[in-house]
Amino acid sequence: MGEFDLIRQFFQRPAVPDGAVALGVGDDCALLDLAPGMQLAVSSDMLVEGRHFLSTVDAARLGHKALAVNLSDLAACGARPLAFTLALSLPSVDEAWLAGLAQGLFALADAHGCQLMGGDTTRGPLNLCITVFGEVPRGAALLRSGARVGDELWVSGTLGDARLALEVFRGRLSVPETVFAAARTRMEQPTPRVALGLALRGIATSAIDISDGLAGDLGHVLRASGVGATLDADAVAGTLAARGAVALDAAMQRSLTLAGGDDYELAFTAPAGRAADVEAAARAAGVPVTRIGRIEAEPGLRVVDAQGRPVDQRFASFDHFG
Ligand code: ADP
Ligand code: MG
Repeated sequence: MGEFDLIRQFFQRPAVPDGAVALGVGDDCALLDLAPGMQLAVSSDMLVEGRHFLSTVDAARLGHKALAVNLSDLAACGARPLAFTLALSLPSVDEAWLAGLAQGLFALADAHGCQLMGGDTTRGPLNLCITVFGEVPRGAALLRSGARVGDELWVSGTLGDARLALEVFRGRLSVPETVFAAARTRMEQPTPRVALGLALRGIATSAIDISDGLAGDLGHVLRASGVGATLDADAVAGTLAARGAVALDAAMQRSLTLAGGDDYELAFTAPAGRAADVEAAARAAGVPVTRIGRIEAEPGLRVVDAQGRPVDQRFASFDHFG
């Protein structure tokens, strides 16, 4: 099968009438229609075999994850997904594998009304790079730079479960099979919090999606906003889904949830007076949220336990070149 047959068979789909994509796969460029008053939100994320995923991962789950991590960036900005491109490097053509990849990819794309509008296909080490395009009303995007002193700090969903699964894969932790299966799904098929990001527009003052670990990603928000924060490590540890089902000491729970990574939850800030609006947005989006701290003037991140005592533990975030 040649390059063009491959594209036609697995990645070219019928045009969607009245969608944002005016011209999709097949020409030199794709064309995207933007509604008046909207800004285009753009983000790229690359997944490299051995670095971002294990070679044994199911193809459909990989297709899901490649798009999910990109949609997560749109979610963090409060942008609505419109379309994406896929740049694919493959060592060889395995039709069953490609069919699986396309199935996982399009299932998530269709769930978000996000169309594949183009890409590139080449032979090489297995590598997937997706660029997503979303829309957000001019000036309404949630940014890392908007946190203000006195704001409360929130996080969506559950943290640490993807890292728990990775530690089991690495043989450093052992947990019951059902706990592992659930954690593995969180690692391989993260849920981008798109609906929550949209619902938080006009409520949240800043947001980021958690890919490298809460403590590190929060650091980006604090620096961009010129503020600091105190974080309740035990409130964060309480979000670990596996917590009730497996005995992990407090330090391990904190490590998984504060420095685990691959969570794709949203961390965001909102004025203290808007807590009820945050809760309502979360209910509307169908995802739980937890209040985990407060923004302060003193720069840096102070991690405390439920009693307010400083937690003496380092929470290094993931760094590809660190
Ligand atoms: P060009 O040579 O102009 O770069 P290509 O031959 O690479 O174009 O691609 C032909 C068409 O197929 C283009 O519209 C391109 O966007 C699309 N395409 C190529 N690879 C993919 C892919 N993996 N997924 C979706 N569309 C793709
Ligand atoms: Mg090309």
